[in-house]
Amino acid sequence: MVDVSVLENPITLIDMILKTGQYKMAYKISDDCIACGACEPECPTDSITAGDPIYVIDPETCIDCGACADVCPVDAPKPE
Ligand code: SF4
Ligand code: SF4
Repeated sequence: MVDVSVLENPITLIDMILKTGQYKMAYKISDDCIACGACEPECPTDSITAGDPIYVIDPETCIDCGACADVCPVDAPKPE
């Protein structure tokens, strides 16, 4: 007889992570950034701001969509 609770637990854990947002991924802009600003308006959560000297992503609000990486001319935003 299969213990169904064992099968259900991993699903419950994944569901909890998705709902709470814990352990979610974020993008990070590398030193390759040339501060062109192309990524900033593309971010759906306004997570990108001009830093000094490179642009930076707020990992708390980044939803890991990859839109910034799609427009970056030097492929600076990378998933962490
Ligand atoms: S991955 Fe998406 S949400 Fe995160 S900084 Fe880039 S555009 Fe914004
Ligand atoms: S698009 Fe790329 S090079 Fe331009 S500011 Fe964003 S991360 Fe930097």
